[in-house]
Amino acid sequence: NTQVIFSKVPSTFPVSGEHITINKSQFDLEAPLAEGEFIVKTLVLSVDPYMRGRMRDASIKSYAPAFILGQPMDGHSVMQVIKSNSVKTKEGDYLYGMGKFEEYTKWNDKTASEQNLVVRNDPKSNGIPVSYYVGVLGMPGLTAHYGLYAIGNIKKGETIYISAASGAVGQLAGQISKAHGLRVVGSAGSAEKVAYLKEIGFDAAFNYKTDDTDAKLTELCPNGVDVYFENVGGKMLEIVLTHMNTFGRIIGCGMISQYNLAKPEKVGNLMNIVSKRLKFEGFIIFDHPEAESQFLKDVTQMILDKKIRYQETHTKGIENTPEALLDVLTGKNFGKQVVDVANV
Ligand code: NDP
Repeated sequence: NTQVIFSKVPSTFPVSGEHITINKSQFDLEAPLAEGEFIVKTLVLSVDPYMRGRMRDASIKSYAPAFILGQPMDGHSVMQVIKSNSVKTKEGDYLYGMGKFEEYTKWNDKTASEQNLVVRNDPKSNGIPVSYYVGVLGMPGLTAHYGLYAIGNIKKGETIYISAASGAVGQLAGQISKAHGLRVVGSAGSAEKVAYLKEIGFDAAFNYKTDDTDAKLTELCPNGVDVYFENVGGKMLEIVLTHMNTFGRIIGCGMISQYNLAKPEKVGNLMNIVSKRLKFEGFIIFDHPEAESQFLKDVTQMILDKKIRYQETHTKGIENTPEALLDVLTGKNFGKQVVDVANV
């Protein structure tokens, strides 16, 4: 049973083999199961930026629990029940939720419900790939949908600017905004990513690494920015503040440029929040399970109608999970980063 272990708290970028390591152990699939127990095989797992925040000393409190040193990491996964002595799950069921980063896990009804594992239909029954349930139809997709409607209060005709726009959250946020009638501008860190943004309907996109962000926002958002979908923070935020329109909204989704810094960057221009009467609201999607059913309805339909595209990077093999997570933190991923643990 190959496991992905949180081994050491990093102070800057984590290193594979040091802060995250691979452990191989025996797992007896034949051992009898007590009442309520069942075994799952992990099919697909998701690595996400917020996991960097969980790689901390357990004494520091935050919105998501710290990973436990020496134990397998966990995160959004799709799993399949391969053996069961539970009345709640049967062999062949697909489970979604916070799975452990290991090939096989034994759960019981109580521990499974604590991790919010839920049984859903065969994900492939409507032709949708299994990995979509940890991406466009999973936590990142819900984040895009909730951020735009509940925080951004997006309106037809407005201009939205999205940073980290080709990523798991950003690419869906852009396509929903476009479908809603906004002018959509995005930035990303490579020419390939920028080309993709234009292909999927962004009105304009630029490479924030090679272009001057301030000059590009002046050129591409001639009427200013009404809504900023904030994924990056730091200097990017400082520049965008000067382009915001009066009564604009900033969707405080994430600040990935800060996650691996020993000391956060200082951000200037905050007086714009007052003078332009901006609403700048952060949110953590884990607080909003109530938003899921409408999101699933809307976005599943958009996928089935082929109204949205969704780029993913698949890493094969659970033993490559550490590199996959590091790729997300350094921008090597293109679209939603997933790890294929089993063939599906
Ligand atoms: P992505 O798939 O977008 O992957 C992360 C991307 O961020 C990288 O590909 C890279 O793209 C970009 N990036 C990495 N480092 C930097 C940097 N130093 N400066 C600028 N960009 C950088 O991730 P997600 O879509 O899953 O997440 C996007 C944001 O949303 C993150 O901030 C994340 O924390 C946040 N989030 C928040 C949630 C919430 O509940 N509030 C839930 C889910 C996500 P590029 O090549 O373009 O630089």
